[in-house]
Amino acid sequence: MIYLDYAATTPIDDEVVETIQDALVHNFGNPSSIYRIGKKSKRQIQNARTSIAESIGVPDKSLFFTSGATEANNWALRSQAYQARKLGLGNHIVATAIEHPSVKEELAFLEQNGFQVSYLKPDSNGAYTAEAFRNASQAGTIGWVAMAVNNEVGSILPVFEIGQAAQVAGYWFHVDAVQAFQTVDWDMGSIPATSLVASGHKIYAPKGIGLLIYRPWREEMILNPLLHGGGQEAKQRSGTENTPYILGLAKAFELLKQERAERLAHYAHLAQHFKALLETSGLAIAMNGDPHNRVNNIHSIWLLGQEASRLLIQLDLRDIYISAGSACSAGSVSDSPILQAYYPEEPDRWHESLRVSFGKQTSEEDITQFVNALIQIQKGR
Ligand code: PMP
Repeated sequence: MIYLDYAATTPIDDEVVETIQDALVHNFGNPSSIYRIGKKSKRQIQNARTSIAESIGVPDKSLFFTSGATEANNWALRSQAYQARKLGLGNHIVATAIEHPSVKEELAFLEQNGFQVSYLKPDSNGAYTAEAFRNASQAGTIGWVAMAVNNEVGSILPVFEIGQAAQVAGYWFHVDAVQAFQTVDWDMGSIPATSLVASGHKIYAPKGIGLLIYRPWREEMILNPLLHGGGQEAKQRSGTENTPYILGLAKAFELLKQERAERLAHYAHLAQHFKALLETSGLAIAMNGDPHNRVNNIHSIWLLGQEASRLLIQLDLRDIYISAGSACSAGSVSDSPILQAYYPEEPDRWHESLRVSFGKQTSEEDITQFVNALIQIQKGR
């Protein structure tokens, strides 16, 4: 099997599996119970929170465990939008047009509930700037939304500059950093964002666990709970905590800290290999997304005249797994909204593009075989 779809999900690290297994078997106590095995679970969750917060560089009270990035994105956007409106600050939001559905659909929900959203397309260089956010703002603007790294084309957005400008203007700033944690070498906690989101299954932990970091710039911008109940997670997110997955997520962050430089060097090497192969392949291709600001492990390629859905089936038959655009839209292969935002005048590109993404287990040989398979498919073999 050749798996080149790490942006969709990553396999779980052995050490993460061991941590989870151990907690599943030996740590079943309810963290809210006041006897010893309950208290042990509670302590371990707090240790996990402290360890992740330290590795990201944020206070541990700003970190809330969630069921994944979808929940964290929905929660942060909804809470900040409603709170700002309640405080009479306005109801207008500026967001990129290339956000993940868990952000875009939440924004659509807010629009149905009286908020206004301006969507920014990439500029003619395929890039985003703080200037564009400023220009799209108006009286009544309350918040800005920009992902750190796009999950489909691998573009890096200037979230430091955008965040600084948001802070000066007094707007909240939401960053979906899901794809950034292991693809850039930033000090993630120093991104000037009021809300920042991560997901376990993009960093070798399981699906169904993620986190929200919430650090408002003004005290009145309190976080409003999305789930009401027993008052877990400092009364912000009720529901009995998923102790095994929380501990597994902490292990994944620990490994990320240890291995990040190595992983990034590996991706840079693989990207060079991939580029060299494509250049000599004879395939008619063009790369999608921002050509300058991009990560080394997520690549979107337009294969001119080749229907992506057909290619995916042919590759699947060869035991090669990649996606057409993002895999997050419930298994469908359709015109990519991200590519529509980048290339409004090139409809063929929207459904003739493939996303290839590398992970720490990817080898040069995997990539060579993938490119060879594309060449063979094109020749009709
Ligand atoms: N944001 C981005 C950028 C993503 O790539 C994903 C996962 N595809 C999500 C959010 C959603 O994460 P989760 O699956 O943990 O809900």
